[in-house]
Amino acid sequence: MSLPAVAVSQSPEAKFREYLASRPKPQRFTDQQRDMINYIFSQHDHFDAEQLIEDLKRDGLGVSRATVYRTLAKLVDAGLLRRLEFGPRMFYEHDYGYPQHEHLVCEKCEKKIEFQSAAIESVIRDVAQQHHFQASGHTFIIRGTCRECNQAKMTKRRLDLI
Ligand SMILES: [Zn+2]
Ligand SMILES: [Zn+2]
Repeated sequence: MSLPAVAVSQSPEAKFREYLASRPKPQRFTDQQRDMINYIFSQHDHFDAEQLIEDLKRDGLGVSRATVYRTLAKLVDAGLLRRLEFGPRMFYEHDYGYPQHEHLVCEKCEKKIEFQSAAIESVIRDVAQQHHFQASGHTFIIRGTCRECNQAKMTKRRLDLI
């Protein structure tokens, strides 16, 4: 389940190449980085570094752990990915070409539900303005239990009563 994509002028790879070239010390675009970008941008997902390392290995893409961590940091810096603290682990998701949205996170099954809210956007804008704060981004996460987990709990309670 993902939100409709936002039109962007460049491919993620082109945007990342531009970022590397514009560094104070321009960096080379590597095959490993291309493999990572192709994989990450093939579908919208919330993933952590360890999961990505496993997935790349499963697909036969030999990207070292150090390269994965270093490239993820660069992809965030380049504005392609954003970081999300859903819990103790750091998650990543597309930022480039994907609309601004917030999350509901289930503490039981770890499901992430995306939603958009003009009201939240407006409150955040107002608060930033009141503090003369130049907002560059925000993370808004609602934690709890999802519908399926709530239903499972209720069914279990009912069975316990029988
Ligand atoms: Zn759940
Ligand atoms: Zn998301």
